[in-house]
Amino acid sequence: MAGIHIEHVTKSYGQLTVLKDFSLDIADGEFVVFVGPSGCGKSTMLKILAGLEEATTGTIRIGGRDVTDLAPGDRDIAMVFQNYALYPHLTVRKNMGFGLKMRGTAPAEIDRRVTETAKILGVEHLLDRRPKALSGGQRQRVALGRAIVREPQAFLMDEPLSNLDAKLRVHTRAEISALHKRLGVTTIYVTHDQIEAMTMADRIVIMRDGVIQQIASPDTMFRKPENLFVAGFIGSPG
Ligand code: ADP
Ligand code: MG
Repeated sequence: MAGIHIEHVTKSYGQLTVLKDFSLDIADGEFVVFVGPSGCGKSTMLKILAGLEEATTGTIRIGGRDVTDLAPGDRDIAMVFQNYALYPHLTVRKNMGFGLKMRGTAPAEIDRRVTETAKILGVEHLLDRRPKALSGGQRQRVALGRAIVREPQAFLMDEPLSNLDAKLRVHTRAEISALHKRLGVTTIYVTHDQIEAMTMADRIVIMRDGVIQQIASPDTMFRKPENLFVAGFIGSPG
Protein backbone atom coordinates (compact mmCIF):
# COMPACT_ATOMS: atom_id res chain seq x y z
CA MET A 1 0.00 0.00 0.00
CA ALA A 2 1.05 3.54 -0.61
CA GLY A 3 0.00 7.13 -0.83
CA ILE A 4 -0.22 8.85 -4.19
CA HIS A 5 1.10 12.34 -4.73
CA ILE A 6 0.28 14.30 -7.85
CA GLU A 7 2.28 17.51 -8.14
CA HIS A 8 1.46 20.26 -10.64
CA VAL A 9 0.52 17.95 -13.49
CA THR A 10 -0.32 19.58 -16.79
CA LYS A 11 -1.28 17.73 -19.95
CA SER A 12 -1.66 19.19 -23.41
CA TYR A 13 -2.54 17.59 -26.72
CA GLY A 14 -1.25 20.19 -29.18
CA GLN A 15 -3.21 23.38 -28.53
CA LEU A 16 -5.66 21.64 -26.21
CA THR A 17 -4.73 21.67 -22.50
CA VAL A 18 -6.80 19.00 -20.77
CA LEU A 19 -5.19 19.10 -17.29
CA LYS A 20 -4.16 22.39 -15.73
CA ASP A 21 -1.81 22.39 -12.73
CA PHE A 22 -3.44 19.35 -11.13
CA SER A 23 -2.11 18.67 -7.61
CA LEU A 24 -3.49 16.16 -5.12
CA ASP A 25 -2.19 14.19 -2.12
CA ILE A 26 -3.91 10.87 -1.47
CA ALA A 27 -3.25 9.10 1.82
CA ASP A 28 -2.27 5.46 2.12
CA GLY A 29 -5.47 3.38 2.01
CA GLU A 30 -7.72 6.24 0.97
CA PHE A 31 -10.60 5.79 -1.52
CA VAL A 32 -10.74 8.92 -3.67
CA VAL A 33 -13.37 9.46 -6.35
CA PHE A 34 -12.84 11.75 -9.36
CA VAL A 35 -16.07 13.15 -10.75
CA GLY A 36 -16.88 15.65 -13.43
CA PRO A 37 -18.56 15.94 -16.81
CA SER A 38 -17.44 13.99 -19.83
CA GLY A 39 -14.22 15.40 -21.29
CA CYS A 40 -13.01 17.12 -18.10
CA GLY A 41 -9.80 15.03 -17.98
CA LYS A 42 -10.60 12.20 -15.54
CA SER A 43 -9.39 9.35 -17.75
CA THR A 44 -6.35 11.35 -18.85
CA MET A 45 -5.29 11.80 -15.20
CA LEU A 46 -5.65 8.05 -14.53
CA LYS A 47 -3.68 7.18 -17.66
CA ILE A 48 -0.88 9.49 -16.54
CA LEU A 49 -0.86 7.78 -13.12
CA ALA A 50 -0.75 4.36 -14.78
CA GLY A 51 2.03 5.45 -17.13
CA LEU A 52 -0.12 5.01 -20.25
CA GLU A 53 0.17 8.73 -21.06
CA GLU A 54 3.01 11.10 -20.28
CA ALA A 55 2.36 14.32 -18.36
CA THR A 56 3.49 17.46 -20.18
CA THR A 57 4.79 18.79 -16.86
CA GLY A 58 4.58 17.66 -13.26
CA THR A 59 5.56 14.80 -10.97
CA ILE A 60 3.87 11.60 -9.78
CA ARG A 61 4.96 9.85 -6.57
CA ILE A 62 3.58 6.53 -5.42
CA GLY A 63 4.68 5.18 -2.05
CA GLY A 64 7.32 7.91 -1.81
CA ARG A 65 8.88 6.84 -5.09
CA ASP A 66 9.06 9.18 -8.08
CA VAL A 67 7.42 7.14 -10.84
CA THR A 68 6.98 9.98 -13.34
CA ASP A 69 9.32 8.38 -15.88
CA LEU A 70 8.68 4.70 -15.12
CA ALA A 71 6.99 2.29 -17.55
CA PRO A 72 3.49 1.07 -16.60
CA GLY A 73 4.79 -2.36 -15.55
CA ASP A 74 7.28 -0.84 -13.11
CA ARG A 75 4.74 1.26 -11.18
CA ASP A 76 3.09 -1.47 -9.11
CA ILE A 77 -0.43 -0.18 -9.69
CA ALA A 78 -3.38 -1.98 -11.24
CA MET A 79 -5.99 -0.39 -13.47
CA VAL A 80 -9.55 -1.59 -14.12
CA PHE A 81 -11.33 -0.14 -17.15
CA GLN A 82 -14.98 0.00 -18.09
CA ASN A 83 -14.50 -2.46 -20.93
CA TYR A 84 -12.60 -4.94 -18.74
CA ALA A 85 -10.96 -6.70 -21.71
CA LEU A 86 -10.47 -10.28 -20.56
CA TYR A 87 -8.56 -12.67 -22.83
CA PRO A 88 -11.37 -14.55 -24.60
CA HIS A 89 -9.35 -17.73 -25.24
CA LEU A 90 -8.17 -18.12 -21.64
CA THR A 91 -10.12 -19.52 -18.69
CA VAL A 92 -10.99 -17.30 -15.75
CA ARG A 93 -8.17 -18.97 -13.80
CA LYS A 94 -5.62 -18.11 -16.51
CA ASN A 95 -7.01 -14.62 -17.01
CA MET A 96 -6.61 -13.93 -13.31
CA GLY A 97 -3.14 -15.44 -13.12
CA PHE A 98 -1.81 -13.83 -16.30
CA GLY A 99 -0.08 -10.85 -14.66
CA LEU A 100 1.60 -13.04 -12.05
CA LYS A 101 2.80 -15.45 -14.72
CA MET A 102 4.31 -12.57 -16.69
CA ARG A 103 6.09 -11.51 -13.55
CA GLY A 104 7.60 -15.00 -13.15
CA THR A 105 5.64 -16.09 -10.07
CA ALA A 106 5.81 -19.86 -9.44
CA PRO A 107 2.75 -21.83 -10.71
CA ALA A 108 1.82 -23.15 -7.25
CA GLU A 109 1.89 -19.62 -5.83
CA ILE A 110 -0.19 -18.32 -8.74
CA ASP A 111 -2.73 -21.07 -8.12
CA ARG A 112 -2.90 -20.28 -4.40
CA ARG A 113 -3.40 -16.55 -4.95
CA VAL A 114 -5.91 -16.95 -7.78
CA THR A 115 -8.00 -19.38 -5.71
CA GLU A 116 -7.90 -17.10 -2.66
CA THR A 117 -8.87 -14.03 -4.74
CA ALA A 118 -11.64 -15.93 -6.53
CA LYS A 119 -13.08 -16.85 -3.12
CA ILE A 120 -13.04 -13.23 -1.97
CA LEU A 121 -14.95 -12.21 -5.11
CA GLY A 122 -17.29 -15.21 -5.15
CA VAL A 123 -16.14 -16.50 -8.55
CA GLU A 124 -14.36 -19.71 -7.47
CA HIS A 125 -17.06 -21.82 -9.18
CA LEU A 126 -16.27 -20.03 -12.47
CA LEU A 127 -12.51 -20.60 -12.59
CA ASP A 128 -12.59 -23.08 -15.47
CA ARG A 129 -14.98 -21.10 -17.66
CA ARG A 130 -14.08 -18.80 -20.50
CA PRO A 131 -15.20 -15.14 -20.49
CA LYS A 132 -17.99 -15.66 -23.04
CA ALA A 133 -19.71 -18.05 -20.60
CA LEU A 134 -19.93 -15.32 -17.93
CA SER A 135 -22.50 -12.61 -17.27
CA GLY A 136 -21.47 -8.94 -17.37
CA GLY A 137 -21.31 -8.77 -13.58
CA GLN A 138 -19.22 -11.94 -13.37
CA ARG A 139 -16.80 -10.60 -15.99
CA GLN A 140 -16.43 -7.41 -14.03
CA ARG A 141 -15.63 -9.40 -10.89
CA VAL A 142 -13.02 -11.41 -12.78
CA ALA A 143 -11.49 -8.15 -14.06
CA LEU A 144 -11.33 -6.89 -10.49
CA GLY A 145 -9.80 -10.21 -9.42
CA ARG A 146 -7.17 -9.96 -12.10
CA ALA A 147 -6.16 -6.56 -10.68
CA ILE A 148 -6.32 -7.57 -7.01
CA VAL A 149 -4.40 -10.83 -7.34
CA ARG A 150 -1.24 -8.88 -8.15
CA GLU A 151 -1.47 -7.14 -4.75
CA PRO A 152 -0.61 -3.74 -6.19
CA GLN A 153 0.23 -0.66 -4.12
CA ALA A 154 -2.72 1.18 -5.63
CA PHE A 155 -5.84 0.65 -7.77
CA LEU A 156 -7.09 2.90 -10.51
CA MET A 157 -10.66 2.28 -11.70
CA ASP A 158 -12.09 4.11 -14.68
CA GLU A 159 -15.90 3.95 -14.69
CA PRO A 160 -15.78 0.21 -13.98
CA LEU A 161 -19.55 -0.11 -13.59
CA SER A 162 -20.79 1.89 -16.54
CA ASN A 163 -21.46 -1.18 -18.70
CA LEU A 164 -23.63 -2.85 -16.08
CA ASP A 165 -27.39 -2.44 -15.68
CA ALA A 166 -28.68 -0.27 -12.83
CA LYS A 167 -29.39 -3.07 -10.36
CA LEU A 168 -26.06 -4.77 -10.88
CA ARG A 169 -24.33 -1.43 -10.62
CA VAL A 170 -25.68 -0.84 -7.12
CA HIS A 171 -24.70 -4.37 -6.09
CA THR A 172 -21.18 -4.20 -7.54
CA ARG A 173 -20.67 -0.73 -6.07
CA ALA A 174 -21.30 -2.18 -2.60
CA GLU A 175 -18.94 -5.06 -3.36
CA ILE A 176 -16.14 -2.73 -4.38
CA SER A 177 -16.60 -0.72 -1.19
CA ALA A 178 -16.53 -3.91 0.90
CA LEU A 179 -13.43 -5.09 -0.92
CA HIS A 180 -11.74 -1.79 -0.24
CA LYS A 181 -12.52 -2.04 3.47
CA ARG A 182 -11.08 -5.52 3.52
CA LEU A 183 -7.90 -4.91 1.51
CA GLY A 184 -7.30 -1.22 2.30
CA VAL A 185 -5.49 -0.54 -0.98
CA THR A 186 -5.21 3.12 -1.98
CA THR A 187 -7.80 3.61 -4.72
CA ILE A 188 -8.75 6.25 -7.26
CA TYR A 189 -12.17 5.62 -8.74
CA VAL A 190 -13.45 7.62 -11.70
CA THR A 191 -17.14 8.10 -12.39
CA HIS A 192 -19.53 10.65 -13.82
CA ASP A 193 -22.20 9.35 -11.41
CA GLN A 194 -22.72 11.65 -8.40
CA ILE A 195 -24.40 8.92 -6.36
CA GLU A 196 -21.46 6.55 -6.79
CA ALA A 197 -19.17 9.36 -5.66
CA MET A 198 -21.28 10.27 -2.62
CA THR A 199 -21.67 6.68 -1.43
CA MET A 200 -18.18 5.31 -2.07
CA ALA A 201 -15.67 8.11 -1.50
CA ASP A 202 -13.54 9.01 1.49
CA ARG A 203 -12.92 12.19 -0.50
CA ILE A 204 -14.35 13.47 -3.75
CA VAL A 205 -12.38 15.46 -6.31
CA ILE A 206 -14.66 17.50 -8.57
CA MET A 207 -13.14 18.43 -11.92
CA ARG A 208 -14.19 20.78 -14.68
CA ASP A 209 -12.21 21.47 -17.85
CA GLY A 210 -9.01 19.99 -16.39
CA VAL A 211 -9.17 22.06 -13.20
CA ILE A 212 -9.99 20.76 -9.70
CA GLN A 213 -13.03 22.63 -8.39
CA GLN A 214 -13.09 21.17 -4.89
CA ILE A 215 -11.56 18.34 -2.86
CA ALA A 216 -13.65 17.32 0.14
CA SER A 217 -15.47 14.51 1.94
CA PRO A 218 -18.94 13.76 0.54
CA ASP A 219 -20.49 15.37 3.60
CA THR A 220 -18.49 18.61 3.31
CA MET A 221 -19.02 18.71 -0.45
CA PHE A 222 -22.76 18.51 0.09
CA ARG A 223 -22.94 21.01 2.96
CA LYS A 224 -20.29 23.48 1.82
CA PRO A 225 -19.88 23.42 -1.95
CA GLU A 226 -17.27 26.00 -2.92
CA ASN A 227 -19.02 27.22 -6.03
CA LEU A 228 -22.17 26.89 -8.07
CA PHE A 229 -20.69 24.26 -10.35
CA VAL A 230 -19.96 21.97 -7.38
CA ALA A 231 -23.37 22.65 -5.85
CA GLY A 232 -25.09 21.86 -9.14
CA PHE A 233 -23.04 18.75 -9.75
CA ILE A 234 -23.50 17.28 -6.27
CA GLY A 235 -27.12 18.37 -6.14
CA SER A 236 -26.68 20.14 -2.83
CA PRO A 237 -29.11 22.85 -1.72
CA GLY A 238 -26.26 25.34 -1.11
P1 ADP B 1 -13.04 12.23 -19.24
O1 ADP B 1 -12.45 10.91 -18.90
O2 ADP B 1 -13.20 13.15 -18.07
O3 ADP B 1 -14.34 12.10 -20.00
P2 ADP B 1 -10.72 12.50 -20.97
O4 ADP B 1 -9.58 12.51 -20.01
O5 ADP B 1 -10.98 11.24 -21.69
O6 ADP B 1 -12.04 13.02 -20.23
O7 ADP B 1 -10.51 13.62 -22.05
C1 ADP B 1 -10.20 14.97 -21.71
C2 ADP B 1 -10.03 15.76 -22.99
O8 ADP B 1 -8.86 15.35 -23.66
C3 ADP B 1 -11.16 15.62 -23.99
O9 ADP B 1 -11.39 16.88 -24.58
C4 ADP B 1 -10.61 14.64 -24.99
O10 ADP B 1 -11.19 14.83 -26.25
C5 ADP B 1 -9.13 14.99 -25.00
N1 ADP B 1 -8.25 13.85 -25.34
C6 ADP B 1 -8.15 12.68 -24.66
N2 ADP B 1 -7.23 11.88 -25.22
C7 ADP B 1 -6.75 12.57 -26.29
C8 ADP B 1 -5.76 12.27 -27.29
N3 ADP B 1 -5.09 11.11 -27.30
N4 ADP B 1 -5.52 13.22 -28.23
C9 ADP B 1 -6.19 14.39 -28.23
N5 ADP B 1 -7.11 14.73 -27.31
C10 ADP B 1 -7.40 13.83 -26.36
MG1 MG C 1 -13.19 8.99 -19.24
